[in-house]
Amino acid sequence: MDTVEDIVIVGAGFAGLATALGLHRKGVKSLVLESSPAMRTTGFAFTIWTNAWRALDALGVGDKVRDHHLLLESITFLSATSGDISAKVDLDKTQRKIGMHELRCVQRDFLLETLAAELPKDTIRFSSKIVLIQEDGNLKLLHLADGSIIKAKVLIGCDGINSVVAKYLGLEKPLFSGRCATRGISEHPTGHGFKHDYLNINGGGFRYGFLPCSEKNIYWFFTWCPSENGAEKVDESIQKMREFVLKILTASKVPREIIEVIERSEMSEVVSSPLRYRSPISLLFGNITKRNVCVIGDALHPMTPDLGQGGCTSLEDGVILSRYLADAVHDGNVEVGLEKFERDRRWRCANVVAKSYITGFIQQSSNWFVSFLREKLLAGIMARDLLNVSDYDCGKL
Ligand SMILES: Cc1cc2nc3c(=O)[nH]c(=O)nc-3n(C[C@H](O)[C@H](O)[C@H](O)COP(=O)(O)OP(=O)(O)OC[C@H]3O[C@@H](n4cnc5c(N)ncnc54)[C@H](O)[C@@H]3O)c2cc1C
Repeated sequence: MDTVEDIVIVGAGFAGLATALGLHRKGVKSLVLESSPAMRTTGFAFTIWTNAWRALDALGVGDKVRDHHLLLESITFLSATSGDISAKVDLDKTQRKIGMHELRCVQRDFLLETLAAELPKDTIRFSSKIVLIQEDGNLKLLHLADGSIIKAKVLIGCDGINSVVAKYLGLEKPLFSGRCATRGISEHPTGHGFKHDYLNINGGGFRYGFLPCSEKNIYWFFTWCPSENGAEKVDESIQKMREFVLKILTASKVPREIIEVIERSEMSEVVSSPLRYRSPISLLFGNITKRNVCVIGDALHPMTPDLGQGGCTSLEDGVILSRYLADAVHDGNVEVGLEKFERDRRWRCANVVAKSYITGFIQQSSNWFVSFLREKLLAGIMARDLLNVSDYDCGKL
């Protein structure tokens, strides 16, 4: 016999786990279906900005994550072509609306496991891939890859960039930005000795970011345009990708000790990630919800990683959606709750996606005019934009 669940969340990434935990805190049960056999930890680490700390605090896990990750003190922008500092921001001296700016580089597996550990046993069902969604009156029929069917009264798509739920809602496919990224992490058992600074090296057709997660490990990312930089077939193996990144950085003015970290790094099994985004127009006018179905996180607003906000806004989504949804469940009108979520999130998501794209374009460009503007005029504005976007409070549950 097919089972009927009240709320089914598809995907156990940041968005799915934050929503399940927010609902749990509000006394509402949900079931999370995850296609992988275990938690997916691709990407090692990522920046968690002030807005996401607000979301994690609302979910009651902020301090557990803080305890294991360094508080970064500053952000430095360095020109890849001249080696000069084009902008520097001290986080504790910068104006803000909602209290202290807080930036840490957090390990992905640690955050996912911390969120999952707070959920009741059996909330997450692994190896459960949704392949098709159909309707049966007010219920949604979820067909799984193993042939089973689950009926859901409410369906929340947190299934990432290739979302089947977004497709069901008729949202446009994400667009390719023309850029790719690779990432790595290096372990330093006796301490790395680097400053607590987020170093951004820009220009020359690439972006390189370098951040300490703790005193013993460093996370880095590198983005480039496959159509430039002589990047043919570099994604065939980790070895080829490492050589490619090292060759480009060595030919630039990037300091030697920063490059050496790459030589000793573990690199992602997903050697190259194409950077995709959803058009802000489609976010403003597309269906984010339809009756008892809704999408959040990358399923809703995939973006280029240039403001480090994809995961952070997914956590915001999770808190805001669970607040509206739990209240709506108690009032017996889910549709109204999802519509409130839609109204609340459209502009915020479209704005962050657009700003991320523009920032990445300017930061990475090798065009002489854009480079001139970036280094003489825009570097400071872009540094402040990183902070402005994160100066947002999703509120309590
Ligand atoms: C290079 C790079 C750097 C980044 N850096 C940052 C950063 O510094 N800061 C930041 O905030 N964000 C960053 N991001 C973005 C961030 O990783 C994503 O925005 C975030 O992971 C989105 O979370 P999510 O839960 O929506 O989706 P995901 O993390 O993609 O999770 C989706 C989950 O759904 C599961 N799933 C998919 N399809 C199905 C299905 N059909 N059935 C069941 N389960 C399914 C998947 O297995 C997965 O576990 C970066 C992204 C990239 C590519």
